Amino acid sequence: MKTRAAVFYEAGRPLEVHELDLAEPRAGEVLVRMAAVGICGTDLHSVKGEWVRPTPTVLGHEGAGVVEAVGKGVSSLAVGHEVVLSWAPSCGECEDCSRGRPARCVALNRAIAGSTLLDGTTGLTLDGETVYRGTSTGALAEWIVVSERVALPIGEGVPLEQAALLGCAALTGVGAVLFAARVEPGSSVLVVGAGGVGQFIVQGARIAGAAEIICVDPVEARREQATRLGATRVCGPDELKELMKEALPGGADYALDAVGDPGTTAVAFRWTRNGGTCVIVGLPAAGRRLDLDPVDFVRRERILTGTIYGSEDPAVALPVLLDHVRAGRLDLASQLGPEYPLDAINDAIDASLSGSAGRVLIRP
Ligand SMILES: [Zn+2]
Ligand SMILES: [Zn+2]
Repeated sequence: MKTRAAVFYEAGRPLEVHELDLAEPRAGEVLVRMAAVGICGTDLHSVKGEWVRPTPTVLGHEGAGVVEAVGKGVSSLAVGHEVVLSWAPSCGECEDCSRGRPARCVALNRAIAGSTLLDGTTGLTLDGETVYRGTSTGALAEWIVVSERVALPIGEGVPLEQAALLGCAALTGVGAVLFAARVEPGSSVLVVGAGGVGQFIVQGARIAGAAEIICVDPVEARREQATRLGATRVCGPDELKELMKEALPGGADYALDAVGDPGTTAVAFRWTRNGGTCVIVGLPAAGRRLDLDPVDFVRRERILTGTIYGSEDPAVALPVLLDHVRAGRLDLASQLGPEYPLDAINDAIDASLSGSAGRVLIRP
């Protein structure tokens, strides 16, 4: 069969929408008609040339859609089911998979680096040439074939364009708070960066019952959004020192860096209290390195760690987040930014690069 998809070739060259040949679902796979796909920071790393991976490739890994066909032996899904895609089609057998952490699966990470599925295939070609799949997914397309294990049922009451955000930004941000940092009620949280993931960290901190949630970001619209979502105080980067000295002179119990650049991680770690925990959530450009002082770990007993994909199995974390959505605690609607058709993919990427408040969505 055929699918139209947004194909990325190289940094600086606009993406092109092409009609690709798409292999039918094999045993254990399902065909999904994509309804909404968010543009994520990971996609932008490729677009900006900060990460180099095989091309041509279909980017996009944060999406939701409807199952339209199932391969042999598929038992968990049927035609018509609404699903959100997980971008961790892992092996299911290794130590990390057995511990419920598919995003850490070594085989998956090799496949993501090679922009293929685990078996090295992609199921996508253009004029007979292989087309790769960004983050082992490739969701910026009308149709996609994925393992049934990564097409997670949404159930009733959550619109597909909102559910798409659960596929990456929401699981990553809320999961960083609930499952990685394990923020305790009454504690203090510093959130560095209030983009898509940062806003979900703020919401996660509110859901966890944090008493003080300080959010720092250079963009005023993002700071206002963070305030609406639960931040108790917000400021720009230049004002952080003064604000922290007044509000939390010893630092925050938890500091989360949504950006992941060494510069922002240094800010988060600087304002982590003695014995507190700093979590790196965003990913830096390839090759960036942190400069660390061992005294922070020894004398100050600070903990510095990272989190990938919410530090939980998406199949376990998603129902938790869906409960929060249905109960009105997790607000997805306000996180939505402008929507574009697939053919306007380059406008969508420009909007996302400009730091638009709200997740930019493609409606294929
Ligand atoms: Zn993502
Ligand atoms: Zn594995």
